[in-house]
Amino acid sequence: MTYQSETGTQFSKEFTLQESIPQNGVERVLELLDSGRLHRYNTLEGEASEVSLLEQDFSEYTGARYCVGMASCGSALYVALQSVGIKQGELILCNAFTLAPVPGAIENAGAKPIFVEINEDYVTDLEDLEFKARESGAKYFLLSHMRGHIVDMDQVVDICTRLNITLIEDCAHTMGARWNGKFTGTFGQVGCFSTQTYKHINSGEGGLFITNNEDVAAKAILYSGSYMLYESHLRKPDMEVFEKYKKNIPNFSLRMSNLVAALIRAQLPVLEERCQRWNERYRIIEQELRKDENIRVPNRRDKEEYVGSSFQFTIKSTNVEAVKRFIRTCDARGIKIKWFGNLEPKGFTSRYESWHYIHAQDSLNSTNVILDYLCDIRIPLTFTLEDCIEVTTIIREVSQEVFN
Ligand SMILES: *Cc1c(COP(=O)(O)O)cnc(C)c1O
Repeated sequence: MTYQSETGTQFSKEFTLQESIPQNGVERVLELLDSGRLHRYNTLEGEASEVSLLEQDFSEYTGARYCVGMASCGSALYVALQSVGIKQGELILCNAFTLAPVPGAIENAGAKPIFVEINEDYVTDLEDLEFKARESGAKYFLLSHMRGHIVDMDQVVDICTRLNITLIEDCAHTMGARWNGKFTGTFGQVGCFSTQTYKHINSGEGGLFITNNEDVAAKAILYSGSYMLYESHLRKPDMEVFEKYKKNIPNFSLRMSNLVAALIRAQLPVLEERCQRWNERYRIIEQELRKDENIRVPNRRDKEEYVGSSFQFTIKSTNVEAVKRFIRTCDARGIKIKWFGNLEPKGFTSRYESWHYIHAQDSLNSTNVILDYLCDIRIPLTFTLEDCIEVTTIIREVSQEVFN
């Protein structure tokens, strides 16, 4: 059904349009194409491949000892679970507000998620985390910094240390973000990042895996599909570490290509500047939507140095029909809102109820209510600051029209 709003301006920019690849990235890709050396292990004697160089760059950027290029963040998550030693049927705590690749990675690894409630600021409810950890005895926590909302990492580390829980971070939306000056992805055993088109660096597809643990790093390199050519990696453990595992670890062939690495390497130097531009846009939208009495804007934590590459807000009205009308009217005026309240997965899926392959979960009453009224918009850097004002003006006009 299409719904035409009678009045008002139309926003005409695309919410899915990213910036172009920097020129030096385009040139490097052309050089690689010219050389034909696109596979990470197709190197000349003594030459470091583009993927190895990227692993070095990203290690230096994050301060992590080891880095492994992967085909995607979802594959990095899967390899992370394998590399920290989870077994068939293992229980893994996971915040319920996440994206389908996260339960997908858990399923792929033969493990079982235990979803943890989120609070009204869209981050893990730490009391529920501790409660479910004790109740279930789960020894792993896959923390998804979903849509860039970073929970109190001091408390997470404290809980994990006290209960002997291995932490893995899904940083698909937090590349460049920090908690109290420390990069997300460096608080637990493994951090996984995405360079898929809608994340902070765009290489179409791609994932980065970081760890400080030499055993985990060696296993991840072997799982990624190193054809026993791991000696050419620049950010790898000593060769003896591989000896322990090389005959026991299957090759999952989840490598990154040199073309992808070239695209990422060209964008890494501009990441910090991009993050600032995202936050300028985020803060404008935040300030404008705060003025709307029908909308709740989440509070962010003092130590959270987030990257606002998308914006989430909660509709205060509990009239679901009105919420649907709000989304449709915004859509008709060019504002593309994702609504997490939709029980039928459409365009994306972030509700655990629609993941039927997962074993039955206790009902997550708080999370359900939060998702029912949760709205989400992308903030592409192709939007100017004026565009952000225009977006919020339309949202506020529609909110007035529908809820007042
Ligand atoms: C995008 C995303 C992923 C997966 O990244 P891919 O590179 O597409 O596999 C995982 N978790 C979250 C929260 C994401 O948004």
